[in-house]
Amino acid sequence: MGNPGFDLHTHSSVSDGTDTPAQLVRNAAELGLPGIALTDHDTTAGLADAARAASNTGITLIRGIEVSALSEGRSLHILALGVTRDADTKLAQRLAEIRSSRRTRAKVMVERLSADFPITWEQILENMGASDAEASVGRPHIADALAHAGVVRDRSEAFAGILAPTSPYYVPYDAFTSADAIAAIHEAGAVAIGAHLLSAYRGVRSGADAIRALIAQGLDGLEIRHREHSEPARDILMNIAKENSLITTGGSDYHGHGKPNALGENTTPLVALERIADLVDQRGGDLT
Ligand code: AMP
Ligand code: ZN
Ligand code: FE
Ligand code: FE
Repeated sequence: MGNPGFDLHTHSSVSDGTDTPAQLVRNAAELGLPGIALTDHDTTAGLADAARAASNTGITLIRGIEVSALSEGRSLHILALGVTRDADTKLAQRLAEIRSSRRTRAKVMVERLSADFPITWEQILENMGASDAEASVGRPHIADALAHAGVVRDRSEAFAGILAPTSPYYVPYDAFTSADAIAAIHEAGAVAIGAHLLSAYRGVRSGADAIRALIAQGLDGLEIRHREHSEPARDILMNIAKENSLITTGGSDYHGHGKPNALGENTTPLVALERIADLVDQRGGDLT
């Protein structure tokens, strides 16, 4: 049974997903999806392998990133779709800095944790699906080490306690401001879509007002169909999207076996994809 839409939000092992980029694409092809965007956190390291696998299976691979930003002191995720292949952009430069900050931060968290639990930094490096500089290390990797040591059952339990922002082990990392992220995404030829902005767990603090501020900064679209969006949240987002003629998307936020999200559980219809393709074309990006 083929699904008519594209899954525009997925993660591989070059960030905190558990499928390699090629496995992820093969899984999408087996499900009958016409295409996916690979949107690893703050890195494009998986896109070349994913594109090769896509050309072997006949599905379309959209060049994406889930960019880390901060808004009102909270982490804010912006999907960049259609990122240029050109490596010489402000976006690429800043993402390299953010990955470096993620690495320093994860090391400090592991140091703090290793005083109390049997986990090591080497163990975390072993489980990264890309080189040190290209991989994007995050709390999920630390959660996996804690689960391996029997400290927690799974990632969810780790996030609910020991790795939560309120935990003494928690350390923040450097990220874009939302305005800088959106500007850099545009300059890299891509479309900027606010990811899970009204998630009950990790959405924007001041709801619709914060979203309107992002739109004033140039946000092009809103991810509406996401498992962390309730029906009322979807209605609010849809109204804002209509008022501002924004692109609307859906995606699974698949992380392999790192999260319950199933590949293709939310998708984006082809009409929305045409709008994305037009904008990427205007901005000189590379959609695929
Ligand atoms: P970080 O950016 O390193 O602070 O880690 C946040 C990432 O962890 C998010 O992008 C999510 O993909 C992932 N995450 C958040 N909550 C959970 C959870 N309960 N279980 C598994 N992964 C999670
Ligand atoms: Zn993630
Ligand atoms: Fe996210
Ligand atoms: Fe995500």
